[in-house]
Amino acid sequence: MLNLGHAKKWKYEEDHSNWENGRPPWVEQPKKTHSGHPIHEIPWSLPYHTQSLCPECTRVVKARKFAEDNKVWMEKTCKEHGYFKELISPDLSVYMDMFTFRFGDGQGVSNPIVPDGKRCPEDCGICNMHHSHTALANVDLTNRCDMTCPVCFANANAAGYVCEPDLVDVRRMLQNLRDMKPVPAKVVQFAGGEPTIHPQFHKIVAMSKEMGFWHIQVATNGKNFSNYEFARKAKEAGLHTLYLQFDGVTDDVQFKTRAEKIMDTKRKVIENARKVGLRVVLVPTLVKSVNDHQVGDIIRFAIENVDVITGISFQPVCFTGRINEKNRLEKRYTMTHLALDVEKQTGLVPAKGGWLPLGCTSPFSKLSEALSGEPAMTITCHPDCGNGAYLFVEPNEKKEVRSLTDFFDLRAALVDIQALAQEIRKKNAKNGGGQGVQLFSKAKALSILRKHYRPSRAPKGLSFRRLLGVLDGYKDKEVAHNPNHHTKNAYPTLFVAGMHFQDPYNYDIERVKRCIIHYSARDGRIYPFCTYNSGPYYRERVEESISVPIGVYKNQADLDQFPSQVSEEDAFKVRSGTPSTVALPSMTQQSENHACGTEGCC
Ligand code: SF4
Ligand code: SF4
Repeated sequence: MLNLGHAKKWKYEEDHSNWENGRPPWVEQPKKTHSGHPIHEIPWSLPYHTQSLCPECTRVVKARKFAEDNKVWMEKTCKEHGYFKELISPDLSVYMDMFTFRFGDGQGVSNPIVPDGKRCPEDCGICNMHHSHTALANVDLTNRCDMTCPVCFANANAAGYVCEPDLVDVRRMLQNLRDMKPVPAKVVQFAGGEPTIHPQFHKIVAMSKEMGFWHIQVATNGKNFSNYEFARKAKEAGLHTLYLQFDGVTDDVQFKTRAEKIMDTKRKVIENARKVGLRVVLVPTLVKSVNDHQVGDIIRFAIENVDVITGISFQPVCFTGRINEKNRLEKRYTMTHLALDVEKQTGLVPAKGGWLPLGCTSPFSKLSEALSGEPAMTITCHPDCGNGAYLFVEPNEKKEVRSLTDFFDLRAALVDIQALAQEIRKKNAKNGGGQGVQLFSKAKALSILRKHYRPSRAPKGLSFRRLLGVLDGYKDKEVAHNPNHHTKNAYPTLFVAGMHFQDPYNYDIERVKRCIIHYSARDGRIYPFCTYNSGPYYRERVEESISVPIGVYKNQADLDQFPSQVSEEDAFKVRSGTPSTVALPSMTQQSENHACGTEGCC
């Protein structure tokens, strides 16, 4: 029998006074990445030193995170451009509650594209220093868009060029993701611009399915999915989820952020998704004083449509260009603001204790690895990057809602699962595992989950078995995509999450080193989201190198011959089997070129 004595020692307690050296005992902190680069653990208390960027010249500068007036701040000084102080959280205790619930870093990739990186983020793409593997991979299909949103500058009209890969490039970008080791990317999101206006969108979805991606989604404004036939074909090609831009529940709000009254279109999209069997995640870009008052309404809208909407990913707007400290303080919206707004506007999730950083799911991945012997996809981003809460919606007329943490002691369960994973690994190393260990481990995992489940507080109709069905769906997309899963085993749930992309004011290099959301780019590299879209702005460097001036694109007499229009075979012939390669301009050249003065989202 396994000795789980130390699991008892790891009992989760809110009181941190028993932590050894200010650190929880359950943390498993690797010392090196898979490529041998040292990993420095994120500190457990404030203040601490890190590195950031000068917002004016994007040079790497020393930074300090600290508490003052019950808030969390970052400060830094650039020799040339002076002192900057940025709000990280408006509430110290809510921030620390999330910041300190973690289980240890990841180890990145064992076949980095840049094998000898020394300086982050200058040596990007993906390098030996990176601490996480890809959890969500983005592939941009075009920078063209059928909208002109005031909060977006990443479209062809603003950029002045069209950047749209042909099928040879798309396949190569997808293959680069599948080739990553030890964990190939399995979840892909097509992005842009508006990716659905790529002339071969459905073919690309089918291609990614054939290449082994187990979850395929598209970040979209939804316009094309308001056409039933388009939605049906996308589902048939293998698309699972629409990551649907959705800034509010009323036209006046949508108009402020998107310059269009588009609420009816969004309703139509959701209706079509329901009819064809696609899932929807709402993606509100939050701008303080513009739509933060609708956080609760957006959640209620999702609850009303929980049969088709599976989640919400709130994304606070990022700052670009120069913006003074007073204006930043007025406009800055953080993950803590989101937690406070959800508590105030819905009463469903307490700001402190109800949210967990995204990386807290890693014990389940470690358990899966220990049982299967195969490396599993693990979320190990920095706790400042994102957090989430699970809501369970009773399938009745009233649609009453409970937060998972109301009836399941999730934190204690995660700590016990982490202990179990470690114990199984030790056991396997000692005697080679075997069926006995497997059976015992699965039984023990079940008993841990049952121990922390409080049936008397659970929503109606949620048996322990159905709870397991929900958890299975979350950890295994193949289970979630089985049409029977939603009717037989599961229960209507909504994952409410926040992802706080960085801008040069709050940039933390320890965050970007742990980034889990990556871009497979046309230059053959794989960039973390916050280096591609912010800070060094690799996007501009890559796109400018492989693009057609917008005037040339518009004047092209025969758009049927534009590379993105032609078949993969023809595109391959045109380039004689040689994929395009790009020499990137130097960092200095790039920062000289970057002169965007627009305030908007990443
Ligand atoms: S962000 Fe990651 S991949 Fe890019 S330079 Fe830093 S450690 Fe390397
Ligand atoms: S995209 Fe930015 S905010 Fe999200 S995990 Fe990566 S570094 Fe963190």
